[in-house]
Amino acid sequence: MTDARACEIRSTCPYCGVGCGVRLRPTGDGGLEVRGDPVHPANFGKLCSKGSALAETLGPEGRLLSPVVRGTETGWDEALTLVADRFRETIGQHGPESVAFYVSGQLLTEDYYIANKLMKGYIGGANIDTNSRLCMASSVAGHRRAFGTDTVPGTYEDLEEADLIVLVGSNLAWCHPVLYQRILAARKTRGTRLVVIDPRRTASCDGADMHLALRAGTDAALFNGLLCAIHDADAVDEGFIPSVQGFDDALAAASSDRAEVTGLSENDLAAFYDLWIRTPKVVTIYSQGVNQSSSGSDKVNAILNCHLATGRIGTIGCGPFSVTGQPNAMGGREVGGLANMLACHLDIENADHRAAVHAFWESPRMAAAPGMKAVEMFEAVGDGRIKALWIIHTNPAVTMPDADAVTSAIAGCDFVVVSDITGANDTARLADVLLPATAWGEKDGTVTNSDRTISRQRAALPAPGAARPDWAILAEVGRRMGWHDAFDYATPAEIFREYAALSGIAGKLGRDFDISGHADISDSRYETLEPFRWPFAGERSGGRFFGDGRFYHADGKARMLPIRYRPPAAKQGPRFPFRLNTGRIRDQWHTMTRTARSPRLAAHLAEPFLEIHPRDAERLGIAAADLVRVESTQGSAVLRARITDAVQPGDVFAPMHWTGETAPSARIDVLVAPVTDPVSGQPESKASVCAVRRFEA
Ligand code: SF4
Repeated sequence: MTDARACEIRSTCPYCGVGCGVRLRPTGDGGLEVRGDPVHPANFGKLCSKGSALAETLGPEGRLLSPVVRGTETGWDEALTLVADRFRETIGQHGPESVAFYVSGQLLTEDYYIANKLMKGYIGGANIDTNSRLCMASSVAGHRRAFGTDTVPGTYEDLEEADLIVLVGSNLAWCHPVLYQRILAARKTRGTRLVVIDPRRTASCDGADMHLALRAGTDAALFNGLLCAIHDADAVDEGFIPSVQGFDDALAAASSDRAEVTGLSENDLAAFYDLWIRTPKVVTIYSQGVNQSSSGSDKVNAILNCHLATGRIGTIGCGPFSVTGQPNAMGGREVGGLANMLACHLDIENADHRAAVHAFWESPRMAAAPGMKAVEMFEAVGDGRIKALWIIHTNPAVTMPDADAVTSAIAGCDFVVVSDITGANDTARLADVLLPATAWGEKDGTVTNSDRTISRQRAALPAPGAARPDWAILAEVGRRMGWHDAFDYATPAEIFREYAALSGIAGKLGRDFDISGHADISDSRYETLEPFRWPFAGERSGGRFFGDGRFYHADGKARMLPIRYRPPAAKQGPRFPFRLNTGRIRDQWHTMTRTARSPRLAAHLAEPFLEIHPRDAERLGIAAADLVRVESTQGSAVLRARITDAVQPGDVFAPMHWTGETAPSARIDVLVAPVTDPVSGQPESKASVCAVRRFEA
């Protein structure tokens, strides 16, 4: 009898930044059996509802199976020649800044590497940005300001060694469920205390000791208050402070803030501050509630300030911890998928770093300055500065702030290419050229999860129709634009080796990201590559950063920043009295391309909805399950009312998943103003203002 488990293929879940390992077994009829990988260090066999429903989301239905040029199916040769010709002509007439790539945390690292190399080294512009800009760019900016590089210091094991875990702007129970379960398990065995800081009462509060329902956007004031309390309690780690610059200025700025703006009672503030200060092993986890803000970078640095002041960083069970939304948001950061980064955490503003990458790629040119970040990029598409746009595995017509304006911008762009697994989403319908890409389960490469663990995604199914891997599509366009040798790759293993070799140069330049231990990895070793945590470069491997008090600024010290609380950009008033919070729900992913195919997942919350407080609903004559129209200066949507005191009076919450296929439209990002953090460029997706009224059909 054959052991079916011996035929399993090890891969990684395609949804969130926890990066759970999965084992796949083809069923022979085009499907897969999927179970958690019992030895993967992220999940040890566990999967959440989305991961365990992966097998239900496969199949040819709705897949894009061949290239399409202006509505007509065609072959790869014609489609790719057109893409290469139009990009080359546009660059020739208007320069490298006239073209852009908008990519995605759904890309594998090898795909990302080729897209970044093509844009920054060969086209010579830097207008490549990723939808991770909408997810965690403020964490990147905060890390770079404090540490001198974008390092996540800790590991998942720290969550199990901590005595206090603080979740800030993170509904971990729904958005990173396996990680939340790891915390609850540790809580059982060691009594870990759990505090949730969120304006909204979420599922994560169910297992918490304390929920601080602060006013939306006041996180920086809360952590400034903590810094002052640390100082007042004599809890500053004087032994660690020599590793830090800026303590006095940070404290002075914090002292001029008032924690009362949080709306929390003095007792609650004192209880939280006291618990934090007297618990040596603290991990502060933060996510989109912190990042998606016009002051997101400052919020991140207010959190980092507290950890730096107390030396609670780089040691077991301690540290600030940014959790990422997408399966490969971290890989995108590492490989230079953001418009303001180079590969391997090298800085685009640094001439030595640019020269090193330029020399390594032996490229004809090199981007000399950061490119446009996502919101600015689509504004430039709208006003005609960008004339050719390639969108890869993301649906900005639904997910960008001011989504109606973004839709019009894409529709009016001279030349739009979309690579995706479907040709039927809101963005794909606007494309001049549609390119069929392979999906999860069909493609090979690597991803990095939130604790720096790099794992393989592996193909277990054949590519349907004419679908191709993204790295192969991008490399072929590079060759057709004239750069044959530079994009002459046959396998993702070749790309990974090149990337690992470049990381060795980054390591020599003093960067944290170094996986040069894999620069000579053979094809067969790549095939069997086990999950590993970077850095991976001989002695500098795995583990935590900063335990030795050495950081990545030129003087080796960390920076504490003077942070002053700034309220959200939009003000509530008579016309728009509600503060609109947007986010995910437990069983859907992005714009539901994959998850909507599972009846089990769709059954959890079947309709787009608006959470509204009972007092507000009563005042507006809204009954449970009424349809309501939500309006802002940008647009409007119609949603089903869910009356709940989980939101505060004056706040409303809506999920971000639904697309233009529902009627009337529930695209919630049409309501979100295109306001961004001035440092990170991340949009303020959780603090727009809006009006709500009963919907009369
Ligand atoms: Fe997938 Fe995230 Fe769920 Fe793990 S926690 S199974 S990575 S969605």
